[in-house]
Amino acid sequence: MAGTKTPQISIIGSLNIDFVTTTPRCPAPGETLTATSLSVSAGGKGGNQAVACGRSSFTSKSTQDVSVSMIGAVGAEDPYYDSLLKPALENSGVNTTAIEKSKTQTGSASIIVEEINGENRILFVPGANHAGMMTGVAPILSALENAQPDVVVLQGEIPRSTTIGLLEHFNAGDKAQVVFNPAPVFPDGIPLSALQRTGVLIMNETEVVQMTEFIGNSIEGELVPEKAAQAFHDRAGVEIVLITLGAQGVYYSTRSGKRGLVPGVKVAKVLDTTAAGDTFVGYFATAVARLLATGKSLEAFDDVQVAVEKANAAAAMCVQRQGAMQSIPFAYDL
Ligand code: ATP
Repeated sequence: MAGTKTPQISIIGSLNIDFVTTTPRCPAPGETLTATSLSVSAGGKGGNQAVACGRSSFTSKSTQDVSVSMIGAVGAEDPYYDSLLKPALENSGVNTTAIEKSKTQTGSASIIVEEINGENRILFVPGANHAGMMTGVAPILSALENAQPDVVVLQGEIPRSTTIGLLEHFNAGDKAQVVFNPAPVFPDGIPLSALQRTGVLIMNETEVVQMTEFIGNSIEGELVPEKAAQAFHDRAGVEIVLITLGAQGVYYSTRSGKRGLVPGVKVAKVLDTTAAGDTFVGYFATAVARLLATGKSLEAFDDVQVAVEKANAAAAMCVQRQGAMQSIPFAYDL
């Protein structure tokens, strides 16, 4: 019944293990070099955004007002899910029962960080993220059956065909609103027909430039957020467009004409921006789920600016902490 339902969010996306090796310099071909350190941690955009949704729904240490579930796949025969991903998700209030244990290994990112210049080189192996259940829309929809989400959150680290199928499915119906963060942007794009009627589209400065090409409105020269956002409203019927602008903050625009720039929070020291974008997405998705669970529609999101401000503040807290998932704040810390 409107007004009494617990808001539900399902994140459909990637689960990875990040192997980060820090080294004075990269080894030459054939050379063995002693590096400085190795850290192994839970990651993946899907996992990060699920953790952000979970943590943003803890209004106090013991109260979680939004139900969050993760739909994804991991390797059954490697130890990474049980030792790292599962505890990270569950300790952040994310339901993991719909995660598929696949014969394919857990997705991974091997990251080499060179100390002299902080530059990184990344080798990504999609693994289970591109296998089994994640290759089809029907198995994902059946995994979602018990969750009945108000909001589904999608990114670009599962197969393109699955993402397009899910966008088409949810954007055509009125069961759940899509929060789509096209990161990374699929090189072959997303057809305009699949984007039509997307609830919320969240892009950074690079992604918005790439995405405008796919709606036939390529940006020439400097990015003008107002113009780019309007193109997504006009051509793709997107209800809310959010463009994250790093330290400058976030530009928001709704189809009904609410728009503005929420400036970035000035922070004393930026330690590590990893997962700042994911933190923003998770916090905003939670605000949308809370709205929809009251029976209101996205068009009636009067407090959209308040939601952007809160997600912006959470992302600013993230950049002051080291690491990815572990740097995402709980709502009661804000
Ligand atoms: P990342 O890939 O690092 O997770 P992104 O490229 O997806 O991030 P950004 O636009 O760089 O996204 O950052 C997302 C949000 O994080 C910004 O809109 C802002 O709210 C916050 N943020 C990022 N950098 C800073 C900063 N230096 N100071 C304050 N807030 C920041």
